[in-house]
Amino acid sequence: MSELAYPYEAPASQALFDRAAAVTPGGVNSPVRAFGAVGGTPRFMVSGSGPYLTDADGREYVDLVCSWGPMILGHAHPEVIAAVQEAVARGTSFGTPAEGEVALAEAMVERVAPLEEVRLVSSGTEATMSAIRLARGFTQRTKVIKFAGCYHGHVDSLLAAAGSGVATFALPDTPGVTGAQASDTIVLPYNDLEAVHAAFAAHPGEIACVITEASPGNMGVVPPLPGFNQGLKDACAANGALFVSDEVMTGFRTSRAGWFGVEGVVPDLMTFGKVMGGGFPAAAFGGRADVMAHLAPAGPVYQAGTLSGNPVATAAGLAQLRLLDDAAYEMVNAVSAQLQGLVTEALAKEGVAHRVQTASNMFSVFFTDRPVVDYEDAKAQESFRFTAFFHSLLSNGVYLPPSSFESWFVSTAHDERAVQRIADALPAAARAAAEATA
Ligand code: PLP
Repeated sequence: MSELAYPYEAPASQALFDRAAAVTPGGVNSPVRAFGAVGGTPRFMVSGSGPYLTDADGREYVDLVCSWGPMILGHAHPEVIAAVQEAVARGTSFGTPAEGEVALAEAMVERVAPLEEVRLVSSGTEATMSAIRLARGFTQRTKVIKFAGCYHGHVDSLLAAAGSGVATFALPDTPGVTGAQASDTIVLPYNDLEAVHAAFAAHPGEIACVITEASPGNMGVVPPLPGFNQGLKDACAANGALFVSDEVMTGFRTSRAGWFGVEGVVPDLMTFGKVMGGGFPAAAFGGRADVMAHLAPAGPVYQAGTLSGNPVATAAGLAQLRLLDDAAYEMVNAVSAQLQGLVTEALAKEGVAHRVQTASNMFSVFFTDRPVVDYEDAKAQESFRFTAFFHSLLSNGVYLPPSSFESWFVSTAHDERAVQRIADALPAAARAAAEATA
């Protein structure tokens, strides 16, 4: 490690992590932040600017996490910060309707054609939980189909991910989720339409909805095979179920109209978060007006939130959406393509078996030479190579998601200097991946 530009130790982060562990389970407020999959000291960040994060030890990193997607304009974008400051000065929460939430909803509806009506919430988890409740209330049915490897937040019924196979009832994957909640969830292998048809055949009149990530990024990037999302939509329509497309990650990131804008398949309900909140807790679900009409106070399905449509969060989200024009997406797509090329080049040079998989500007690297179309494929990769790759990059000032089962994210702020920093760090990381042993 002597050639590395940065010393590997992170004493200030370690001290904060120790302090955190005394008052917070595992020292973090969201598990993947703990570096459990890769080991080492999680970096405690103190500031972000453009494509860079600075940690408690004063080290700067090129950020390829972008807060797990939201920071598509980079950190502390001046116009987003100005909108937030203006909103904060007018008060931080009213508990009444306010114009900002109307404007954000209008901006979303204008961009995403299937979104006839939208309800704002505070997290992606809340969005998917509420969409599932609405689907059940609308169809008067109980069961939900989800796909192994897709993550929809920590909704009890959607945490079930084990037991891939046709019409298999999943067991709870985590203590605290009851058997009843899990048994209403049918977990199927991703990209497997036959399994979906078999599940509908096995449970006639019981399935309320199929929920899927519009293009999964939570098992690494595993895009839908051509026709898969349309097949889901058709199977739902034929069986009286709703098709719920989770665009929390892809929404307003993969295009101006999210993954819908890339593929054009029209869902009944959609969920959003991340980019639409501009780095604040704002999320949403929406879709067909006749379905949304079942939501309180218009209809009987209850859903509410003290901070829903928060004026500061909606101001940030609106400012971010307004800045995301075609040129912005072209920039993000171009820098993503450039990085994909650099990663491929570096790994190929060292003879490391890998696949870079992409969904618009989302991408990730699998350490395998086989195509990854579902969770089983994703798990079959040589993750130990990722660990070595990750730590080498981290040591050289590049911050990747600390897991091989996550998408990498870039922003409009990732300029030539940032890309060069990554390019300079990649050869050593590729060598580390090549030399890694299980
Ligand atoms: N759905 C998808 C596709 C996600 O990627 C996530 C979070 O990563 C969620 C839902 C949950 O969102 P949140 O973490 O805001 O609750």
